[in-house]
Amino acid sequence: MYVLYCDISGNVGGTTDKHIVLGGVCIREDGIFHVIKELDDIVRESVLSLPYDTELHANEILAGRKFWRRIESEARKAFLKTCLEVFSGPSRHNMRTFGIVVEKANIEGDPVLFAYEQLVTRFNAFLLRDHEHNRKRHGAFKHRGLIIFDSSRYEQELQGVAKEYRINGTRWGQLPFLGEVPLFSDSHASRLIQLADLVAYGLFRRFERNDREFLKVYAESFDRHSHRTHGLYHLTSDTDCDCPSCTRT
Ligand SMILES: [Zn+2]
Repeated sequence: MYVLYCDISGNVGGTTDKHIVLGGVCIREDGIFHVIKELDDIVRESVLSLPYDTELHANEILAGRKFWRRIESEARKAFLKTCLEVFSGPSRHNMRTFGIVVEKANIEGDPVLFAYEQLVTRFNAFLLRDHEHNRKRHGAFKHRGLIIFDSSRYEQELQGVAKEYRINGTRWGQLPFLGEVPLFSDSHASRLIQLADLVAYGLFRRFERNDREFLKVYAESFDRHSHRTHGLYHLTSDTDCDCPSCTRT
């Protein structure tokens, strides 16, 4: 099984942000323990003398809120980048990122639900590709997918469309590899939902503020196949955007 941990970045209903972002971290079940351990080790070994249960929330870290108030800005940024380096660490082959970036002005209706439909379609396509790969090389083992969201964000709305997609599929087709509706977990307890928060926020900084500092740390981890980045989708009216989604690279 592959588990896709997801979180949302951006102000969904307000007018202060142009974008909303769904960020996802996909990990095969046998790699979950190792990624959590790598993140726990980063916290424990940090020169910032962090408590072992320090939560990783990009907004709090970068804004210097709560516990982070006593730590200088550059040190907080450096720590965030160190966390994102798990995507180039020992577990990198077991992890992929997904990101759906929606410029809200370009869409009628709910941008989160639009982004969710894109996300599940791309996750299902990844699982189908993985199955085709396994069938050719190791027999017909079929990994299924499970999506886990931060429970504080958008649970009711996503549960509604998820049930619809499970039964009838999306506008892009059925989702045979996603047999269950998304589950919701408390980000306080889940290191991997916290990692999805960091991924979503890095994308948000890139597209909302043209700050590539964080995204460049994990830019190579998006789901790719046949020289195309399938794990990133950008809905925009900007015809000059050079992101892999807009340039189809
Ligand atoms: Zn783009």
